[in-house]
Parts: sequence; C-alpha cells; structure tokens
Amino acid sequence: MQIRYRSTRGGAEEITASQAILNGLAPDGGLYVPTWIPTLTVPMEKLAGMDYREVAFEVMRLFLTDFTDEELKECIANAYDSKFDSEVIAPLHQAGEHTWFLELFHGSTIAFKDMALSILPHLMTTAARKNRITDEIVILTATSGDTGKAALAGFADVPGTRIIVFYPKYGVSAIQEKQMVTQKGGNTSVVGITGNFDDAQTGVKKMFHDKEMQQLLQEKGFRFSSANSINIGRLVPQIVYYVYAYASLVKQGQICPGDKVNMVVPTGNFGNILAAWYAKQIGIPVGRLICASNENKVLYDFLTTGCYDRNRDFILTASPSMDILISSNLERLIYISGGCDGEACRERMAGLSDTGTYSITPEMKKVFDDFYGNYCSEEETAEAIRRCFEDYGYMIDPHTAVGAGVLDKYRKETGDAETPAVVASTASPFKFNRFVLECFGKAGKEEDDFVLADRLSEMTGVALPKAVEEIRTAPVLHDRVVDAEDMPDTVLALLGIRS
Ligand SMILES: *Cc1c(COP(=O)(O)O)cnc(C)c1O
Repeated sequence: MQIRYRSTRGGAEEITASQAILNGLAPDGGLYVPTWIPTLTVPMEKLAGMDYREVAFEVMRLFLTDFTDEELKECIANAYDSKFDSEVIAPLHQAGEHTWFLELFHGSTIAFKDMALSILPHLMTTAARKNRITDEIVILTATSGDTGKAALAGFADVPGTRIIVFYPKYGVSAIQEKQMVTQKGGNTSVVGITGNFDDAQTGVKKMFHDKEMQQLLQEKGFRFSSANSINIGRLVPQIVYYVYAYASLVKQGQICPGDKVNMVVPTGNFGNILAAWYAKQIGIPVGRLICASNENKVLYDFLTTGCYDRNRDFILTASPSMDILISSNLERLIYISGGCDGEACRERMAGLSDTGTYSITPEMKKVFDDFYGNYCSEEETAEAIRRCFEDYGYMIDPHTAVGAGVLDKYRKETGDAETPAVVASTASPFKFNRFVLECFGKAGKEEDDFVLADRLSEMTGVALPKAVEEIRTAPVLHDRVVDAEDMPDTVLALLGIRS
C-alpha cells in the first residue's frame, strides 16, 4: 500500500512521497509526515549481511513508495559511492565497553549533513521526472556555514539542477568560506552578502514568496526548490544509518537481534534524532533516544517541563551547528503526539511565532517518554573531548562531545550503564581543529587553521581528510559579494534571465 504525506498543520492535501520531496514545506507552512508508519520486515540476520547501499534500499523503499525499485537503487548508487572516504560509508568506532561512535562524517564535507545531502539531489531530480516537471530545479540556500557546502557538494554537476548559496561574507569561519568558494561544478554559484546570516535567510525566503519572480523563472524553464532539513528527502535517508548501525553491531557479534541499544544524538534542529525515533517505529530495538544539547538547551527544558520556550539569549558555542532556538523538526512529533490533530498543531506553532512558547499536555508527553534530554556546558564539552582521547585514544569533535558528555550524565543519573549506546558522531574533529586542540592547550591564537589541522593529524595519527587537504591549495572559483537587497537581481543574472 502506498504511503502518502500530509501536513502537520492540516491545511494541505495529501500527496505522494515524490511530490513531498519537490515541495519541501507544505503550502500551509506545515511539515510533511507519512500517513502511516511502515514496518521493516527484513530479518535482522539478513540486514546484518547487507552493505550500506542495500540497507538504504530496504529502509527507503518503505517510505518512498511511489519510487520504483530501479529508481531508488539508482539514487542510492549515485549517492553512496567514492565520495565517501570509508568503504562502509558509516563505520562504528568502539570507545569504552558499552559505547560506539557512529561516524557520519566520511562524506565530502566531513559532517553528517552529507549523509542526506548526497542523495537528496538524486531523489529530487527523480521526483521531478516522475511528476513530469521539465523545468530546471534551482536550489536557493542561505547558510551560516555548514549546510551550504554540503548542499553544494551534493548538487554539483547533478543534471537538471542549479544551486545558488548565499553566505554572510564576514560571518563564517576561514575554512568554511574556503570550502564554499572553491566549489567546483558548472551549476554551482556561491555569493557572499555584506549582511549577516539572518539577512541572507530573509532574502532567500522573500524570493521563495515572490510570485512575480517565480513567474519570470517559469517562463524561462526554471523552478525554485529548497534543500532545507525539513524535507522528507533528507529525513528518510537519515533513518538508514540507525538501522545500519544496529545491524553492524549484530554482525560484529556485539549484540543479539532484539537487544536494546540506546541512541545518543547531538541535536539542533531535531532532524537527526527524529530519524532515530522513526528507526524505532519501523521495528529497530532502540532503547532510549538521548537528546544532547549544548548551552542552547531549549530541548532539554522542553523534555523536562513540557513547555517549549525560545525566549532566551542565543549563545554562540563551540558546536555551532547546534546553536538553534527553534528546532523545526520537533513539529512532526508535536503533531504525532497530539493525535495527528493538524488544527491543534497549527495553534501551537502560531504560539511559537507569536509569543515564542507553547506547551504540550500530559497525554502528549507520553510519546516523549522514549527521550532523555540533557546538555553540556562549554567546559563539559571540552572535558568530554579530553576524556575520550585520554581514555581511548579517540578524538571527537565538539558536537559529538556534547553527545558523549550527555551519555555520561544519563548513565550516572539513571544507572543504565550497560545498555550498549551508539553516539551519532556528527562531524570530524578536523572540521573544528582549533577548539579541539585548545582543549589540550595546543593551539596558538595566531596560528593558521591548516597548521592546526596538520598538528591534529600528528597528535592523533589520523590522516588529514581529503576534504581539508583539497581546499588548502584549491583556487577560489567564486568571489561575488553583493548587498542583501541585490540578491534577487543576482539570482536573475546568474540564471541568465537578466544581465
Ligand atoms: C546539523 C548538525 C547537527 C544537528 O543536527 P539536527 O538534525 O539539526 O538536530 C549536529 N552536529 C553537526 C555537526 C551538524 O552539522
């Protein structure tokens, strides 16, 4: 039976998976959720014998039911290939008797967004073909650093697509900027703007809502789309690696099929941990879902009180991809826990945008009993990095360290110290080498990021990832900088619609 997708706000029609991927956000502003949750019927013993691509196929076919087997296999083959510097795509690294790190950073930008953004472009172009859309798809993205590069790497040279990324010229790290402005691919554009991230974001949103501009694009055979983390084309591929991690533990003889495994996820927008929740729903024996936050601990407060409150200072931390006060993907669980009542969900989200808060009922809280929330301060994050390296000789990045630190708190607080735990390792330490080295007093303020990368490699005995090596000497291919108000004209010029 086909799965259809409906909006969490109840005001849009039910559509197919491929249409939901093309739309991204529902027209009523809600997020698409599957109308029912499928079950993974392939026996665990069999999954344990499969490679990443085969597991991906078994999981994704459950949710993307209007894609043919051939279409899905082709998307998967195009995504999980030699772009990853690990044969197994998502390896597990054991550090401690009951702890494994699931390394999700072996793709082109050495952070976990590659896991979904390497397949999204293929799902999207396949979806366009299925729905007889012949327009070229133009992906517009505003980035504060990481998503932009992962989206560029995913969409580069994918036929039928263009990608234009806007970033705050003076608001990203040197390595992040270098990663973006050296991006190859005839269909990629990277534009710095003189404002901050919010200006870039607002500019992109305005273009998405600009009817006149859309008309103009359509006449020339283009259509806007978004690669944003609420797209189900990003959520579904993320379920795969939780299934794969569990199957890998079975394969290695670390657990028996049916044994519970806790999943620990460094969380920002709630996308990655929601995928772990879906893995549990389709039948993977996941124990607790451990939601790890940094000092922007909105989710910890929400999980302990049932009240979501974004009214607080935004704190810049060493784990910037988790510096988020509105966890967009949480809306899906709010909808589901509220009995799939679109009206009630819409009211809560209106509350969030009007007053910055909403609350859930005790009944709804039951769905969240599977979750455990906690957070790490900056000092606790640094301590987790030091401990992991000193005890196990394994270096982790600050995001992953927030997960490791929270796992520690969970074990102490609940006494549940022996259930195997898988920590989603969301970025390579080489992406955050300055903070990591500072934890050991080994980074000078004036030292160049590439010098630090070499030092980290020496200290850990881990070879410099290709992604860092490549940008060290790569030529700058994008040097356009514009004012935020000139973003639409820039897009039209880049597409050759206006000079
Ligand atoms: C995006 C990101 C996260 C947060 O993931 P969400 O799905 O937004 O919760 C954590 N760590 C890193 C390195 C990221 O890039």
